[in-house]
Amino acid sequence: MSDTETKLFAVLGNPIAHSLSPLLHSFFMEQCHYNGVYLAFAPKKEELAQAIAGLKALGAKGINVTIPYKEAVIPYLADLTPQAKICQAVNTLILTEKGFIGDNTDGNGLIKALEKQHGWQPEGRKILLIGAGGAAKGVAAAIARRQVAEIVIVNRTKEKAESLAKLLAQHSECLIKVLDWDALQQETLYQNVDTFINTTPMGMSPHIEAMAPVRMECLCEDHMAVDLIYNPLETKFLRLAKAQGAKTASGLGMFVEQGALSFAAWTTITPETTDAYRLIAETLNNG
Ligand code: NAP
Repeated sequence: MSDTETKLFAVLGNPIAHSLSPLLHSFFMEQCHYNGVYLAFAPKKEELAQAIAGLKALGAKGINVTIPYKEAVIPYLADLTPQAKICQAVNTLILTEKGFIGDNTDGNGLIKALEKQHGWQPEGRKILLIGAGGAAKGVAAAIARRQVAEIVIVNRTKEKAESLAKLLAQHSECLIKVLDWDALQQETLYQNVDTFINTTPMGMSPHIEAMAPVRMECLCEDHMAVDLIYNPLETKFLRLAKAQGAKTASGLGMFVEQGALSFAAWTTITPETTDAYRLIAETLNNG
């Protein structure tokens, strides 16, 4: 394929109109002088296989997959990366000679964002994951592959936290604990954990006054509070954590960095992300 040929990329989800991925990837392409287009599609579940086969036939080099297809797409793939095998969910399809390989860049995107914004690295950390859904799996799979000291999972439905812990234990040596949802009320938890990651949608627009039942008065400057939500850019959880002196990070960085990792996997070009943070923040602020 010559450089004069426009390469095709896409995101599949349903609904998809709200997705900022086309904006982000078009920005990376322009910034990197890369000749490509990135389009959003919302196939129905029963059309997913056709959509992927169609994009492959049209020569698409890469596809992003978002809610609700991160797991549903797996049967149509040639293989999974080790990262995607752990979490059994993909957000990035990379075209190879075998067909599309599924990867999950969500967790490494979050780690990159925290490194960039706070110099935070997972090694030696004691990390609390609040929630055990799709996003939590992606994050857990990435941090469990680094030398974290401990991962503690609390989820409203404890069985889901337990099955995530079981999945992680098959692939990681790190200490993994599951606690009851009520453990968020125990003061000792806050002495034993240094990083709190909210992976639930509690606090997401329009329910901006919602928040996981974290004891905010137990947070201090030694803690890092992370919210995967980026709409609003500062959730109630982050606002209160900041008031306690904790370092904070929203899901904006994760969104930009997971996109940059997908872009790099498709094109072998690693985009600079600082301006993309600004672009996405401005877009969100302008509603
Ligand atoms: P999901 O698969 O539906 O999982 C939701 C999780 O939150 C589950 O563990 C669920 O607990 C818990 N939960 C939901 N409502 C709750 C409530 N009222 N009280 C207590 N727990 C509750 O969703 P997801 O795909 O993981 O997405 C979660 C969040 O991450 C969303 O806000 C999404 O926008 C964000 N996200 C951000 C990025 C990024 O790039 N920044 C990427 C992916 C996702 P149960 O198991 O008990 O139902």
